[in-house]
Amino acid sequence: MNNQPQINILIPLYNEDAVFESLVARLKKVLNKSKLDVTVILVDDGSKDRTFELMSHLALADSRFCAVRLSRNFGHQHALTAGLSLVDSSEGVFILDGDLQDPPELLDEFYLKMKEGYDVVYAIRKNRKESVLKKFAYTIFYRLLKKVSMIDIPLDSGDFGLITRRVADNLNKMPEASRFMRGLRSWIGYNQIGLPYERNERELGESKYNFKRLWQLAFNGIFNFSEYPIKFISNLGVITVSISVIYFVMTVIKKLALGTVPEGFTAIVFLIILFGGVQLLAIGIIGEYVLRIFFQVKNRPLFIIDEVIKK
Ligand code: UDP
Ligand code: MG
Repeated sequence: MNNQPQINILIPLYNEDAVFESLVARLKKVLNKSKLDVTVILVDDGSKDRTFELMSHLALADSRFCAVRLSRNFGHQHALTAGLSLVDSSEGVFILDGDLQDPPELLDEFYLKMKEGYDVVYAIRKNRKESVLKKFAYTIFYRLLKKVSMIDIPLDSGDFGLITRRVADNLNKMPEASRFMRGLRSWIGYNQIGLPYERNERELGESKYNFKRLWQLAFNGIFNFSEYPIKFISNLGVITVSISVIYFVMTVIKKLALGTVPEGFTAIVFLIILFGGVQLLAIGIIGEYVLRIFFQVKNRPLFIIDEVIKK
């Protein structure tokens, strides 16, 4: 045993055999150079390609790597959760994506920052080398989330970052089924700080987050950390009821004073459609919360580990 500070690097991987080799090459360089005692936890999130085969070979050859296979694809956030449950380092966990968008070389820099007294050093993307549409969507999303959320979730920071062991322990204590890790991480508190970095393009392979998955993640961000949508419905209800009362009173006065009844078939049809839509929207918003309760009460495990391979 040596007494260097222990750090785990946690990387979830889903069908990443294309990029795996360069990932390992970069990681090995970092491990060889670093003064820290680093073990890498690679979580295979139910890949259908050779990812697990590659990582298990690596884990059997090099004791600094540990390969974990989940029983199926649980999704990025749950793969992270699974990896965190296996953390064994005394100091902290450095979480990154497997596609080399998050440079592993930043480990020491993040560690130095942590030693200044921070429990969470999260990475802030200086720029995104992604499509204009994706960039736009992210910008809007993070600003909206910041506005509506009950906790202070930093702008433009993903899961990439270094957390202390006690933050990892706290995350492991959270049984939340619908997981938005960067939100949970903020929720924990202690001292947190952002460190700007250049987010690279994915080195090889393609993004596993399609539109549907991104949408789901964004929804989890908003609905798991905000009561705003529900408040929005009640406010909308109060406003519409007030308008209809005012309208009713005006109509009665008009009828009594002028003897006229309002005409307007088109207006009525328009209002019926409008309020039909408003009601569906309201039910949908309530549904989002109910759905989260529905999945939570089942109390299912958040992931199932099939195999752990280490030397
Ligand atoms: N990932 C995962 N399970 C999934 C989807 C993605 O473990 O169901 C991993 C993926 O292999 C990568 C990281 O999560 O290491 C981030 O995914 P990706 O790069 O596809 O997302 P993007 O950077 O495009 O948002
Ligand atoms: Mg990526």
